Amino acid sequence: MTRDAYPDLLPSPRILLGPGPSMADPRVLRAMAAPLLGQFDPEFTAVMDEVTRLCRVVFQTANVRAFPVPGTGRAGLEAALVSLVEPGERVVVGVSGRFGLLFCEIAERCGAEVVRVEAEWGRIVEPEAIARALGRGGAKLLCVVHGETSTGVLQPLPEIARLAHSHDALLVVDAVVTLGGTEVATDAWGLDVVVAGTQKCLSCPSGLAPLTYNARAEAALARRRRKVPSNYLDLGQLATYWGPHRFNHHTAPTAMVYGLREALRAIHGEGLKARFERHRLHGDALRAGIAALGLRLFGAEPPAHRLPMVTPVVVPEGVDELRVRRRLLQDFGIEIGAAFGPLQGRIWRIGTMGYSARRENVLLCLVALEAVLRREGWQVEPGAGVEAALAHYAAAGGAESDVADSLGASGIGRID
Ligand SMILES: *Cc1c(COP(=O)(O)O)cnc(C)c1O
Repeated sequence: MTRDAYPDLLPSPRILLGPGPSMADPRVLRAMAAPLLGQFDPEFTAVMDEVTRLCRVVFQTANVRAFPVPGTGRAGLEAALVSLVEPGERVVVGVSGRFGLLFCEIAERCGAEVVRVEAEWGRIVEPEAIARALGRGGAKLLCVVHGETSTGVLQPLPEIARLAHSHDALLVVDAVVTLGGTEVATDAWGLDVVVAGTQKCLSCPSGLAPLTYNARAEAALARRRRKVPSNYLDLGQLATYWGPHRFNHHTAPTAMVYGLREALRAIHGEGLKARFERHRLHGDALRAGIAALGLRLFGAEPPAHRLPMVTPVVVPEGVDELRVRRRLLQDFGIEIGAAFGPLQGRIWRIGTMGYSARRENVLLCLVALEAVLRREGWQVEPGAGVEAALAHYAAAGGAESDVADSLGASGIGRID
């Protein structure tokens, strides 16, 4: 065996503009390299308490329960359902994309009687249709995806929460792609259980699923007749580990908890409003550029139903979907996303989430996409996309990039 059969791991520095993972904030990666602490070391339990307090800020809630479930986003969704649902109970699920289907799949495995409220992929699930399904009575849960990453649709929630409560059901929300990127007003909107993930708008590697639930959900957990059939994902046990009792459950993934703390601290420092505006600004600039390249956005009319952080772009006739993504990756180091199910091969999904949501990334992506599309024979005026995005930034004001700001501050000079 040669000495360098396993050389140093040197992954290429990619620009991650897919539907997740997004680029990790360097300060999150730094925090993750801090020395490990034992999980019951008072210094570590203090970190856990800070994570809970910061989760409350980001979920906009006063809930006692706000902590991360170990595992990726779907571990959080699974923890919520396996802990709340008992076999034979009715669960109404809004389905207009892949993650609505995931809710159905998990609920079915929990033995639920699943009632699907379907909508066309690319549309919201209409509240009237949800009202009809709930009107049949007996639903314990209503599960809805806030940001349907597979289609780029933002589902309005306040009216749906009122419907759930008027039918005595708990509203469980998948906010994996939306938390930290657009408003998720847990208390003001009356959301009972909200689940997120770390690798989308939180700019942290994947591996934790921050979630929160209110007293109504807690009462439902307490009313269970049978033991939760999962030990690892039992919300009641996880909550007593994250609460003052420090019930001995799994070994906390220390480095991930450090990373999440830093990611939440970064959001706290930026401010929720500024962060949501940043996601809106860069998403809108990208969409202006996409339009100027002569490309069409998929679905989501009116614009209020568009996800700010995931832009679904229709693949034009005669253009090779996969070859475009390959060239973006090979020639420009840019990753964008493909699509699933009925949309496979028909759309790309471009994510502008968290640390990835930056002006220089949006501009690079438009330049690269134009170059690659021209090689596919797509006719477009050179520079049209990037010019439209720059015009959007200029019209939005405060359009200097972070780089220009820091160069200006250091006296090196402005970039115009
Ligand atoms: C990414 C995503 C998930 C799945 O999260 P994982 O971390 O991949 O388990 C679930 N729901 C939505 C809306 C997502 O965008």
